[in-house]
Amino acid sequence: MADTKINLSEKDMPKQWYNIQADLPKPLPPVLHPGTGQPIGPQDLAPLFPMELIKQEVSQDRWIDIPEEVQDIYRIWRPSPLVRARRWEKILDTPAKIYYKWEGVSPAGSHKPNTAIAQVYFNKMEGVKRITTETGAGQWGSALAFACRLFDVEAKVYMVKISYEQKPYRRIMMETWGATCIPSPSTQTEAGRKILSLHPDSPGSLGIAISEAVEEAAKRDDTKYSLGSVLNHVMMHQTVIGLESLKQFEIAGEYPDVVIGCAGGGSNFAGFSFPFVRDKIVDKKKTRIIAVEPTACPTMTKGLYRYDFGDTACTTPLLKMFTLGHDFIPAPIHSGGLRYHGMAPTVCHLYDLGLIEAKAYHQNAVFEALVSFAQAEGHLMAPETSHAIRAVMDEALECKKTGEAKVIAFNASGHGHFDLASYQKYLHNELEDYEFSEEEMNKSLANLPKIG
Ligand SMILES: *Cc1c(COP(=O)(O)O)cnc(C)c1O
Repeated sequence: MADTKINLSEKDMPKQWYNIQADLPKPLPPVLHPGTGQPIGPQDLAPLFPMELIKQEVSQDRWIDIPEEVQDIYRIWRPSPLVRARRWEKILDTPAKIYYKWEGVSPAGSHKPNTAIAQVYFNKMEGVKRITTETGAGQWGSALAFACRLFDVEAKVYMVKISYEQKPYRRIMMETWGATCIPSPSTQTEAGRKILSLHPDSPGSLGIAISEAVEEAAKRDDTKYSLGSVLNHVMMHQTVIGLESLKQFEIAGEYPDVVIGCAGGGSNFAGFSFPFVRDKIVDKKKTRIIAVEPTACPTMTKGLYRYDFGDTACTTPLLKMFTLGHDFIPAPIHSGGLRYHGMAPTVCHLYDLGLIEAKAYHQNAVFEALVSFAQAEGHLMAPETSHAIRAVMDEALECKKTGEAKVIAFNASGHGHFDLASYQKYLHNELEDYEFSEEEMNKSLANLPKIG
């Protein structure tokens, strides 16, 4: 019988990241300055990011070298395994072959350290002493805290207050790695103080936390800001996932017919799928590539392709992306990592060009798939990942009807060990399906900047 786990040796790890900008049939729309409406230059971003990351953001080079020091840290958990889900195939009674790329093996438990390590490295090289960031449930904050520890850079994480209070475990993880984690809105920034004076009991939001982290970085010379998804360089750092997968499929003697990932800001989906998108563009492969999002935050399936701000306080440059509007507040679903109003411009561009597909699911449907997978394969995956798992399940059940033995691959972006309260709710029938409100969306879409 063929192997269940396809492992690469460390010497077969990718030595370069893949930059999809080099292969796009049409270039990405430029990032615009909100004041002038003109494309921004590198100096506009310099207060927030080190120059090397700004260069990567706009680079048209197909391959960008992964520094030795970064590869060396990747080796703690990379290459990650590609696993055949045979037991789940059997339970689903499908002729399809299901594979998952398992990113939950990183110290932080998700794909996020792939970019955190790279970002902190390039900051360190340019003499940065402190990095600020925001985090919702804590997945990104913990990845950045881990990376900062290894490079001896101070990490300050603004954590959305309601998560800070309700989900202490990721905060403890961040503190174990030496990061300072404070609830947002805080009294430490103007943005935070302003919110608190208006709403003393504000539970916080990702948009507010971004505004606080950006403000602190912009004000201090020794401090930069780091973002865990959305930007081009973040997508690129994540391509180690797909590049390893291509080699692993070669070893398995297969090539996927369908490639699936969940999409919040787009980074794990991009990291897994972009090398397969390249094969589609360059070698005319017919692979179906599907991004999966929650019905409660249906950015690609219901949003508009327009220029919008990355944050709620309208302080960031304007990105052309599918968006629900920067002041859209999604329902409190348990997939905290998928509650972002926008989506990576690269992912949106590919969707607009018809190279990838998108679909959306309700939370009970995704938890059903999560539990089905856990009972077959053992792993309790993250609620975010469950969106991909549901889409895989539907593809596999379709194969059962048609008798096709398709190869279906998904990115298992992380484990759900800190999300067990949401499992409990599902198991006790207490999980709500939120009807997505067209009215809410139309209200926030009416506030889009009048550009593009
Ligand atoms: C953060 C996160 C996501 C969503 O973010 P993307 O940038 O879309 O990948 C998905 N899965 C897990 C496990 C996460 O931690």
